[in-house]
Amino acid sequence: MSADREKQTRVLAVSNQKGGVGKTTTAINLGTALAAIGEKVLIVDMDPQGNASTGLGVPRETRRATIYDVIVDGRPIDQSAVETAVPGLFIVPADADMSGVEIELSQADRRSYRLRDALAAQGGNGHTRYDYVLIDCPPSLNLLTLNAMAAADAVLVPLQCEFFALEGLTQLMRTIDMVKQSLNPALEIQGLVLTMYDRRNALSGQVAADVRSHFGDKVYDSVIPRNVRVSEAPSFGKPVLIYDLKCTGSQAYLKLARELVARERQRRQALAA
Ligand code: ADP
Ligand code: MG
Repeated sequence: MSADREKQTRVLAVSNQKGGVGKTTTAINLGTALAAIGEKVLIVDMDPQGNASTGLGVPRETRRATIYDVIVDGRPIDQSAVETAVPGLFIVPADADMSGVEIELSQADRRSYRLRDALAAQGGNGHTRYDYVLIDCPPSLNLLTLNAMAAADAVLVPLQCEFFALEGLTQLMRTIDMVKQSLNPALEIQGLVLTMYDRRNALSGQVAADVRSHFGDKVYDSVIPRNVRVSEAPSFGKPVLIYDLKCTGSQAYLKLARELVARERQRRQALAA
């Protein structure tokens, strides 16, 4: 394999400043789907609510090391990641400690680069462990989100197909521009994924059309439908692909994973050409 085709880690911040748009659901299930097609994946739970951790079956009482230890105490990522029930899918969990990070790091060096530095340290020795790192961001623009965007190669944006979707997006695009001008000039937009799409609802179709006309081929062809199995799965501590592989939600996340990998391959080929 030539050097430029060698596998590199792609770090993606799953972000949108709106809450409830499917960030955590996408991090969990896209992560699972990527692992299912042979990619090695790390999910970094950056939300103090710890929903990605719970949804992947890492109960609070078992979270010995968390992203807090990484960000605040400089604990190596490797020592903080746990393998989930999905082979090839790892997570650095979060818990409520994370809500104090802003204050604890107020005097720290490189306070916005704590995650970036931790990821760079674990990828050392010329040995890259993960194909994808998915960072599940909190719904606000705080130091945790800035750490995620400073660490990321690109932002993956879940968009709920509802009326205020575009309004939230304007805000997110402003944040991304701000981060590019300050913390991370190389930050890209990986893609936008439409979530909770309801084909019986005319508004869903209208929002999808509007988003596609604004963002063109940055929007994935794969669309995640609203599917009750997707919302049930976290209460069992399982990704929907494990809970019910055949349901429309699982199949949509598999399709999205294949599309993301195919586009990523194209992007790398274009860079190498
Ligand atoms: P965020 O992380 O952006 O706040 P979540 O991923 O937690 O959003 O999703 C918000 C709510 O919507 C959750 O209750 C989740 O189970 C539900 N949900 C997300 N995606 C779907 C879907 N495709 N179908 C049905 N419910 C969904
Ligand atoms: Mg969330």
